[in-house]
Order: sequence, then structure tokens, then C-alpha cells
Amino acid sequence: MKNYQSLYLLVVLFFLTISASQAQKKSNNLERPKLVVGIVVDQMRYDYLYRYWNKYGNGGFKRLIQDGFSYENAHYNYEPTYTGPGHASIYTGTTPAIHGIIGNNWYDRTTGQSVYCTDDKKVTSVGSTSPAGKMSPANLLATTITDELRLATNKQSKVIAICLKDRGSILPAGHMANGAYWYDGSNGNWITSTYYLPALPTWVQNFNSRRLPDTYLNQPWNTLLPLAQYTESTPDDNEFENKFSEESRPVFPHDLPKQRGTTYDLLRSTPFGNTFTKEFAMEAVKAENLGKNSATDFLALSFSSTDYVGHQFGPNAIETEDTYLRLDRDLADLLNYLDRQVGKNQYLVFLSADHGAALVPSYAGSQKLPSGSVAPRELQDSVKNFLNRQYGNGNWVLSFMNHQVYLNQPLAASRKLDLSQMQEKVAAYLANFEGILKTTTASTLQSANFETGLEAFSKRGYLRRRSGDVVLTLFPGWIEGTSGRETKGTTHGTSFAYDTHVPILWYGWHVKPGASSERVSITDIAPTLAQWLHIMEPSGTTGRPLLEVLKK
Ligand code: ZN
Ligand code: ZN
Repeated sequence: MKNYQSLYLLVVLFFLTISASQAQKKSNNLERPKLVVGIVVDQMRYDYLYRYWNKYGNGGFKRLIQDGFSYENAHYNYEPTYTGPGHASIYTGTTPAIHGIIGNNWYDRTTGQSVYCTDDKKVTSVGSTSPAGKMSPANLLATTITDELRLATNKQSKVIAICLKDRGSILPAGHMANGAYWYDGSNGNWITSTYYLPALPTWVQNFNSRRLPDTYLNQPWNTLLPLAQYTESTPDDNEFENKFSEESRPVFPHDLPKQRGTTYDLLRSTPFGNTFTKEFAMEAVKAENLGKNSATDFLALSFSSTDYVGHQFGPNAIETEDTYLRLDRDLADLLNYLDRQVGKNQYLVFLSADHGAALVPSYAGSQKLPSGSVAPRELQDSVKNFLNRQYGNGNWVLSFMNHQVYLNQPLAASRKLDLSQMQEKVAAYLANFEGILKTTTASTLQSANFETGLEAFSKRGYLRRRSGDVVLTLFPGWIEGTSGRETKGTTHGTSFAYDTHVPILWYGWHVKPGASSERVSITDIAPTLAQWLHIMEPSGTTGRPLLEVLKK
């Protein structure tokens, strides 16, 4: 008995010692990385990590995967999967139903006009005479992880966001950023808006004065490797790709000087748009002393050229492969630079994407795969005619976008029609169209509590004041074309795996190498960062921290 007691005492003592040492550990200075680098690759499907694996070098994607932690089964959890909603969801840790960025554009019922997600008429361009800078996060209705970092450190942390696309910079930057920069194709410069700064910092002006876009666009786009080595992709010359305007065929070498015209927009649709972004990001790290301040800094970086190239050529094109091989080199460059500038393992990286992409429908069709393209214009006209027959002539359909029909609610009210009945009629009518899997009314999305299935994706992407009256779900493999029945190029936007399944990679500060097959959501990134940094998660967070990567 006595022995048991002393054993018991020993055990108690043992645990007391352990908890004391742990408590001591916690009482030391708060540990945080010097810099967080968020990387969003626009339109990067999960499979691109492995499709091109054998052609990647050791310093880019492979370094992030082999020395970092990879979530192999990470998905978007709402529809529509577009760029604005994607960037907003990563950084707010919630979905469009709460952060409000329900599309790149949506129909504003109060003004009767389409609004762009980062439009802001109250601010003006800085660094340009064009309207490209009339942008801010005014439409983003929740805080971001970058906002929370600024709040937590009493604004001692610096947040800088960079992306060719305005929305890919502004939404990650949040509401309290020190700077957000995007590309103006009219002058080839990095610009911002008066929301952030009254004038471009000197380092940005100096960078712009190097006129790098001229250098990139004055040479042809040739493949990085000999053309014959691109065995992961379809032959260069085929019927599924959009050519550049001045080309006769969509083939290498792409004669950029001949295509560029009088603006600098062409840079976006080449892999050099990513290189340009990387160069500017490295300049930002240096000039803003990121990772060298007393508090943790945040660089929110997004590479857009993958999306422009992906839309034009599709997931199976050599152009897309070449863009990823070059991005891989750019990532290696960036990581090496951060090693030198901030210090190896002193910075924390995550890499993900804002959505994936569908196969080019005509390519899928040529391989006997189910696919197709619906034309919003045709659908809108059909619904108009249908409602004219049902209720008499009227301007019944105000808009058709983001897979949603916006009905004329004031007109319905003035004629004393039951709106939810009208939605039901339109939903039943559209459900029979080719390519449409199902239709859901706004009334249903508002009242039912969908946790799983396609309706849950629609519900998490739906916000009453900004969304339409009837939400369409396309069949897998089907895309919404922009003008009639596309046969070349592709897009994204659905709740199926090719659009939702993206990489989530963690690398650097306190990240142990590993991988997980757990199904996780894109909304989990922000709360994971919050735990890591010991700060509050963004105000609308619905995701949860990723426990496996957080394990010490
Ligand atoms: Zn995108
Ligand atoms: Zn896109």
C-alpha cells in the first residue's frame, strides 16, 4: 500500500513538473514568424502539383511539398467559384453568404446596375489617369486575417498585397492594409487607390520606371523546355485553344510584339505576368522591410497569369504547362530571396488557389466525356418569353449572371404577384434545359437549412441583398459561356471537384513536413493562421483550424 502511495506521489510529481515546464514555456516571449507570405495561384487545380511534377525543379512547388505540409483534399465549399469570392473566402475564413463577395460582379437591385466586386466611386486612381484605381474593399463585409493581424498588433504589423488583378490584391489586403497594388494595363504600371495612399511610394515609382512590361512584351513567348518534352499536354496545334488576336494558329512561338497593340494588357495572358509580379513582390519585401519589423508582417501575393492563360488555352494545353513550369522557377526565386532577406524558417508560407477549372468542353467532347456550354443570353431570353406568356408582357428579367436569374421584383410586386411562386415557375421551366442539373429558388435557400449536398454549396454562396432569384446548378463538365456556345477555352464557377479541389500547402516557420488526406475547406486557412499567430480569427469565420499542420 505504501509503495502504491509513493508511486502515486511520484506520478503526481511527474505531471506537476511537466505542466510547470509547459507553463514556463508559455511564459516566455510570444513567438511568431517574422513574415507570413500568402500565395494564391489563380485557377490552380490540385492536380497541377502532380501533373507537371517530373518537370518541376527542386526549389519551387517541390520544396513547398517536400519540406512543407500538404492538404491533398482541400476544397471550395460554395458556388460560384470565381476569383473575387475565392480570394475573399481564403482571407475571411468564410463564404460569400457572409463576406458578401458573391461574384466578380453582381446585379445591384437599388441602382439597377451591375457592380464590380471592388468598385468604389468614392476613391480615385493613384499612379494612373485611368479609372483602374477606383477600387477598394468597401463591398467586403467581414474582416480578413490581415485586418486581424493589424488589429492584434496595434497596427505594428505591415500588410502589403500584390496581384495583377485588382480584386486579387484588394480582397486579401483587407480593410486596414498599408498598401495594395495591382496592374494597370493602360500604362503597364503598378497602381493603387486613394483608399490606401495619396501617392505611390518612391520605391513603386522607381520600379515602374524600369518599364519591365516592355522588356517582357518585346520578345516572343517560347517554351521553357524543348516543345517535344511537353508530353503531359495535348499537341500544340489543336482546335480547343483560343489564339492571340494576330495569330493564325494558337501555337508556339507566340509573337508577343505583334500581338501587344497599344496597351500592356497582353502581359497578363503570358507567364511573364507572373514573373513581373514576383519581381515586384521581392522589391516590396526589400523596400518595405517586410519581416524586419518588431511585429509579424504579411505579404499577400497572388499570381493571375495562370488564370488568363488557363481561360484561353485550357488545362490540357502546352501553354498552361509552360506557365506552371515558369511559375515554379519564379517560386524558387522568391523562396531563395526570402531565405536571404528574412531568413530560412523565419517566414511562414501558405499556397492555395482561388478555384480550379473545367476541361475545355469541346476537348472533353472529343474524348467522349460528358460536357457542354450554356449561353446565359439565350437562357435569359427564354425566361423572358416564358414570363411574358405567364404574366403578360413586361421586363421580367433584370439580369442573368453567376448562374443566377435576377427577376424584376418591383414589377412583380406592382402586379401583386407572389414572388416565390414566380421563382418556382422559373426554376421548373429552366430545370428542363440541356446542361442544367437542377435549379433552386432564393426562397428555398433562405428558408431551408442545407448542410450537405449541392444546395449547401448554393446556400453558402447566396446573400439575399446581392444574389438572384433562381440559382442554377450545371451538370458536371458544363460551363457558362460568355457569348453563346464556346468551343475553345474554358472557365470555372461550379461546385464540382475540378473547380473546387485546390492545393493548400504550408511551408516554413514551425511547419513539419507531412501531408493529410482529410477533406478540408478553403475557409480553414484563415482560422489556422489565427491560431498560429495567436490572434483573433476574422469576424465572419466559419472555417476551423487545421489541426494536423498545427501539431507541434
Ligand atoms: Zn481566379
Ligand atoms: Zn478565371
